[in-house]
Amino acid sequence: MERKQMSSTEEIQRMLEEKLALQQAAVEKEPYPELSIRKDRLQRALDATLKNEKRIVEATQADFGHRPELMALLADLLFPVSALKHAVKNVERWMRPEKRRADFPMNLLGAKAYVFYQPLGVVGIVAPWNLPFGLGYAPLAGVLAAGNRAMIKPSELTPATSELMDEITRQTFDPAEVTVVQGGVEVASRFSALPFDHLIFTGSAPVARHVMRAAADNLTPVTLELGGKAPVIIAEGADLEEAAEKIINYKMGNAGQACMGIDHVMVHHSDRDKFVDILKRKMAQFFPDYANNPDVCDVFLPNQRQRLAWLVKDAAERGAQIDLIGGSNIETLSEDPKFPLVLVIDPPRDAEVMKDEIFGPVLPIISYDTLEKVVQQVRAGERPLALYFLGGNKEQQDYLLRNTWSGGVTFDDIMLHALTQDLPFGGVGHSGMGRYGGHAGFKTFSNPRAVAHPPKVNLIKMNPPYTDKMSALIRRFMGVKG
Ligand code: NAD
Repeated sequence: MERKQMSSTEEIQRMLEEKLALQQAAVEKEPYPELSIRKDRLQRALDATLKNEKRIVEATQADFGHRPELMALLADLLFPVSALKHAVKNVERWMRPEKRRADFPMNLLGAKAYVFYQPLGVVGIVAPWNLPFGLGYAPLAGVLAAGNRAMIKPSELTPATSELMDEITRQTFDPAEVTVVQGGVEVASRFSALPFDHLIFTGSAPVARHVMRAAADNLTPVTLELGGKAPVIIAEGADLEEAAEKIINYKMGNAGQACMGIDHVMVHHSDRDKFVDILKRKMAQFFPDYANNPDVCDVFLPNQRQRLAWLVKDAAERGAQIDLIGGSNIETLSEDPKFPLVLVIDPPRDAEVMKDEIFGPVLPIISYDTLEKVVQQVRAGERPLALYFLGGNKEQQDYLLRNTWSGGVTFDDIMLHALTQDLPFGGVGHSGMGRYGGHAGFKTFSNPRAVAHPPKVNLIKMNPPYTDKMSALIRRFMGVKG
């Protein structure tokens, strides 16, 4: 049974429709919230997040079993707080109509053209479990800045955080402004079938297909924030100590359960063994006594552990070298939430671990000969959400930029592009579609209305009867000779 004792699908449907109708009625009354209203809504979301900072950390920790406080702060607090602060600071500028040039010769006669950004109405937000508060609240920055109302459906797999988000939202917003809908797959699928004015879904590619199909019936535009196999490519001769530190920090943070996280590493064959040794040494230094180390985040969902263990077993059976760092037994991998970092060295291409997003602390290390081969391999798979290149030169960076696809790129670091508020965030191909974050979010959740004013003097009148002179004028305008 779904939460809140909703006994029947009819009740769920009625509850969803009532919540949407309330927001739609509010849009009718207030189709264009002024700057002060938008700023106030953003500020309230920001203040509520900051005021409840400790409770949010604790709720995510309760859901995760064990999650270091720092991870909760970075993923679930800093992310939405930065987005909301950036929106408060910039919403006035974003709302200004964007002047465009009227066509020649009308521009010389006083014609005007501009883009007027108008709210869309009600935006649905579907969030995943891995950043359970952050990914419910961060999209509010663009949604509220653009003057919309929002319904958020957080994940059923993080009930403590979803309950707290519901409570915070009820205390902070009128349900006609922002509301939270809790529930599992039944609620989620009905939620994505509502006639929203826009739907932003953050989650997995298989579920995204259902979401897009459901949205299609209403012609609801979707932004899909998905995942993928983000590679870290280490340039030949790069500083391997620095590379190993960055890779450990991002692969182990949130136990590798991050959409922008590192899926696998590609390292030059001459550097491979040295890199693996450094990685092991640094892991021992950063996470001594792994099983009891408080800085290790749990892989708390049993089915995630089973999936990860299955990937490791499959790679081992296909002959890949396996190194467990922080664990000893490949057979019992799925039992302990303190999942070790598992290095899978040079697995064959058809190993399961090389097919879908890993989303956990399993790290294939692939050796390569040339950057051309790297490009071929990246292009052979689905387009990832991110690509990282450590230690390369400008020429190599340009080569990768021009010859591979991904939603975003960070050179010489990991995830930096996704943390930069002024950059659009999103995927391409199987890693998603559409962009949000900063100004891109404001635009995604707005109707960019084209507005034109004619010249003061209208020299070209096209009233019937149509004459040859008029046709000649159009020909001259198009540049037709003769
Ligand atoms: P998921 O797709 O299983 O679930 C996401 C949300 O969809 C949940 O709220 C769930 O209740 C809902 N849902 C489930 N079935 C549904 C249906 N039939 N119709 C509509 N909604 C439905 O994803 P997850 O396991 O929670 O999250 C992990 C995935 O999310 C990974 O693939 C990861 O890469 C991706 N992710 C992407 C980003 C990003 O910003 N691009 C961020 C975090 C996670």
